[in-house]
Amino acid sequence: MTRSISILGATGSIGGSTLDLIERAEEGTFELLALTAQRDVEGLAAAARRTRARRAVIGDEKLYPALKDALAGSDVEPAAGHEAICDAAALGADWTMAAIVGTAGLKPVMAALRQGRTVALANKESLVLAGALMTRAAQGAGATLLPVDSEHNAVFQCYPHEDPSRVRRIILTASGGPFRTLSQDEMARVTPAQAVKHPNWSMGAKISVDSATLMNKGLELIEAHHLFPIGHERLGALVHPQSVVHSMVEYVDGSVLAQLGTPDMRTPIAHTLAWPDRMGTPCEPLDLAKIGRLDFEEPDFNRFPALRLALDALAAGGARPGVLNAANEEAVAAFLGGRIGFLDIAATVDKVLSRYAPGAPESIDEALAVDAETRRVTNHALELQAA
Ligand code: NAD
Ligand code: MG
Repeated sequence: MTRSISILGATGSIGGSTLDLIERAEEGTFELLALTAQRDVEGLAAAARRTRARRAVIGDEKLYPALKDALAGSDVEPAAGHEAICDAAALGADWTMAAIVGTAGLKPVMAALRQGRTVALANKESLVLAGALMTRAAQGAGATLLPVDSEHNAVFQCYPHEDPSRVRRIILTASGGPFRTLSQDEMARVTPAQAVKHPNWSMGAKISVDSATLMNKGLELIEAHHLFPIGHERLGALVHPQSVVHSMVEYVDGSVLAQLGTPDMRTPIAHTLAWPDRMGTPCEPLDLAKIGRLDFEEPDFNRFPALRLALDALAAGGARPGVLNAANEEAVAAFLGGRIGFLDIAATVDKVLSRYAPGAPESIDEALAVDAETRRVTNHALELQAA
């Protein structure tokens, strides 16, 4: 039976890996309903033509004429704007990949969840901002939310879904990023180009910087809290530079279950695409003899203060994780734009958290209002700093 698929964020790193798996599948396995992107008209149009997608949506409305031109002569229907992305997410695909980066993905993922089908979630920021609202919406609509993030996908594969009280701890592994062994002084001087060069994974710019500050692990602990609600004090992080053990679930009897694999996002994506079945992938098989050794170490909260900020936000709950996330998105953009240094990212997030403490959002609109106000406060702080 042909399964219908939509990919939100189709031109990104995760979107590309998803397309790769889908395009390798036998003819008739999948039917593409919608592909979306923000600005990459060429990449979007090319993918839509190749996969004969029903609709291609570009987020930036000014690019509608360019998309229309790029799709001329094909059967792909062009559309533009954030609302059009949400409409595309609501077409009712059997399986939707949520791979937009940042909280811009929240409304689209909510639209997909409301269809009551399967949503493969890569877009962790939406869960950090509005996790409780999202998981409630998923339950209400009877949707299946499958984690794509490699750590959460690993936990999902090891987790006793029938009785979570058997779990003592969940341990997320972290590569430690490109600056794992640098001193604070050395980190003060790193460039955006160095920060986006991850040792093990090839990813989009934003998540690569998050991996370098360890904010990514912090966001992932908050993500884990929503996906596997066993209590935040039972969640931990462990640095594991080889990125082979993707995460672990420790049971009350002392057993520790882990999922291992080569660092290639096509494995977790394929897991969600075939779930509850399995499918083949072109990923290189894991060769432990060749790797030889696996190392583990405690994360260093002094050199990586972002992780502490995220853990505090997780423990505080309410709007704190959303403020942390939005301040981080703006600070990372400022770093990538050459406006602030690497260490200023966590310092900025810290400053914003101390200045802006809204109440817990009760709706998606309230969550998005917290997100927008946090960005305003953050940019104000960044301007003052630059002046
Ligand atoms: P990316 O930057 O490579 O791609 C982002 C995609 O989102 C692109 O298609 C882009 O056009 C679209 N997009 C960007 N801004 C948008 C906006 N405002 N509105 C609508 N669409 C927009 O990012 P990525 O590395 O593929 O990551 C995507 C998500 O998956 C992130 O949330 C990231 O944290 C998560 N994730 C990524 C990886 C990875 O290996 N890349 C691993 C785990 C989780
Ligand atoms: Mg991850």
